[in-house]
Amino acid sequence: MLVVGAGLAGSCVALQLQKRGCDVSLVDNQTNYSSKVAVGMINPLVFRRMTKSWRVDDFLPYLKKFYKNIEAETGSSFFHSVPIRRLFSSEQERDFWLKKEKREDFHAYMTPIDQSDYDYSLGKNPFGSGRVKETFFIDVDPFFLMTLELFSKKGIILNEEFDFSQLKETSYKGVSYDEVIFCQGYLNYQNPFFKDLPIDPTKGQVLTIHSEQLPEDVSLNRKCFILPKGNQKFKVGSTYEWHDTSTNITEESKLHILENLSFIIDEEVKVVEQVAGVRPTVKDRRPTIGTHPQHSHYHIFNGLGAKGYMLAPLLSEEFVDYLLEGKELDKEVNISRFQSKE
Ligand SMILES: Cc1cc2nc3c(=O)[nH]c(=O)nc-3n(C[C@H](O)[C@H](O)[C@H](O)COP(=O)(O)OP(=O)(O)OC[C@H]3O[C@@H](n4cnc5c(N)ncnc54)[C@H](O)[C@@H]3O)c2cc1C
Repeated sequence: MLVVGAGLAGSCVALQLQKRGCDVSLVDNQTNYSSKVAVGMINPLVFRRMTKSWRVDDFLPYLKKFYKNIEAETGSSFFHSVPIRRLFSSEQERDFWLKKEKREDFHAYMTPIDQSDYDYSLGKNPFGSGRVKETFFIDVDPFFLMTLELFSKKGIILNEEFDFSQLKETSYKGVSYDEVIFCQGYLNYQNPFFKDLPIDPTKGQVLTIHSEQLPEDVSLNRKCFILPKGNQKFKVGSTYEWHDTSTNITEESKLHILENLSFIIDEEVKVVEQVAGVRPTVKDRRPTIGTHPQHSHYHIFNGLGAKGYMLAPLLSEEFVDYLLEGKELDKEVNISRFQSKE
């Protein structure tokens, strides 16, 4: 099997294929634009609509096992639990939460509000707050280090730009493969076979700041998220930019994030670092997975959007079930949803 792209998508697919006994080669040009910039937060709720994240009841139990297994196999630590506290922007939002916390299907993810949640303010948040359960983050650098270490025990890594002119049927540079799986993230527009799929680039920027006032034991969320990283350093983000698809950082986005932060604390924080990346997103907010309608040995696993670290573990297993055992893909992710509309 040949997997093109070793971001989160390609790495998860490659590991799942190896687990099933396949020989896998992984090509990557080392210019990752999303997975290594990501903050790696895993939040089961969507605050904007106060709903549960898509298929969260399936994804969460699976991802916990998946990441913990990699930790155990590599003797590393990158999967961490972190409480998330949502600071409400209005009474209406708080009432919305109060309604949802009573529902049985939300019990696993919402702690019922008590007096301490009403009182939690940092001096700026008069509407109280709610605590989310089952929240995690991935330390992305050690995750990728360990994933590649695990993969390279049996697999082959080609550190190079994938050259489409060298792909003849399922032979690449003279080596024959059973299947070719493209996991190129937002660079999918360069892929001659799948470029028409509606994968939109969504740029995101994140700051690392130094703050004296922010708490280090909780991830706060209001207009932006804040993830404590130790020694009073915090990641704060992120932006969603549809018009600028470059990968450079901008002053405008830095100011935008700092303005959002000012809704949580009044402090002149020091910006230590700023990074930018590009997410592969789809308008219907579902990934793009499946097989090319004419080239039956070419496949795609892409479109992980803003919640890749939650989706990739189980979806990569479901993709491998489809590829090796012919099991049906979830209709919501299958790229056939675009073909049938034509
Ligand atoms: C600022 C920001 C914050 C984010 N925060 C979070 C978060 O907190 N939680 C979360 O779950 N998700 C987050 N995400 C989203 C997450 O990063 C994505 O869902 C996910 O990483 C996408 O992975 P991917 O492998 O599809 O794409 P990518 O990470 O872009 O990987 C694609 C890989 O393919 C390689 N490639 C492409 N074309 C070629 C070629 N021709 N030859 C060789 N190699 C090639 C690239 O070099 C790259 O390594 C964030 C994203 C951004 C930008």
